[in-house]
Amino acid sequence: MRIIVLGSPGVGKGTYTQELVKRINLPHISTGDLFRMHIKQKSDLGKQVQIYLDSGDLVPDELVIFMVEKRLAQEDCQKGYVLDGFPRTFAQAEALAKVTNLDIAIHFIADDQIVIDRLSGRIICKSCNRIFHEKNIVPKQEGICDDCGGELYRREDDKPDVIKDRIIRYREKVAPLISYYQQKGILKELLINEDFGEHKEAIMAKIQEVLNLNKLK
Ligand code: AMP
Repeated sequence: MRIIVLGSPGVGKGTYTQELVKRINLPHISTGDLFRMHIKQKSDLGKQVQIYLDSGDLVPDELVIFMVEKRLAQEDCQKGYVLDGFPRTFAQAEALAKVTNLDIAIHFIADDQIVIDRLSGRIICKSCNRIFHEKNIVPKQEGICDDCGGELYRREDDKPDVIKDRIIRYREKVAPLISYYQQKGILKELLINEDFGEHKEAIMAKIQEVLNLNKLK
């Protein structure tokens, strides 16, 4: 199954996808995570994209498309994947349509204030990228990842002034993609305002239901 997850930064799509891929055993391809890995490794791509990630600007299409096409061609993606953070522009959506047939696009939605709270309290594992939240998904031991023991950190672009810009930019660029996938007949919208920490199973049931419904079509 080839799935993409759409939604504003902070809507929770990374958290839901991390849990979903454990249950359906597909690779989780997050373009943001891939860029952060390149930056950490100081690769050529990492050096080129650092400035965009720090400011919250979108990385130019050709760099993102090149990276994603390379990743999707790998062996583990042949049975399907969950693509998170891509596409974010029309050009990216068209490039993706040329190399793959998607089964479903899930559009996650949450109220504005919830999105801002989720981003400003987000903490992430430096090693495995697992997402926590200072109030809603609290790690057992402060500053340490429950899964791998890695160090937890806050992203540079999760600072309040950058957060607002990222959300505005998302609305301008990604909103047209929602109608693009609606027209293709593969869009499913999911409103999730509940905290993942408290309502994990109910949230995952909603997501799995949407996936099964689509499969039966
Ligand atoms: P994310 O982890 O999805 O919030 O992405 C973090 C940052 O990576 C974004 O603010 C962009 O700078 C960059 N990025 C991730 N995915 C894309 C994409 N599909 N197109 C352009 N830039 C991206």
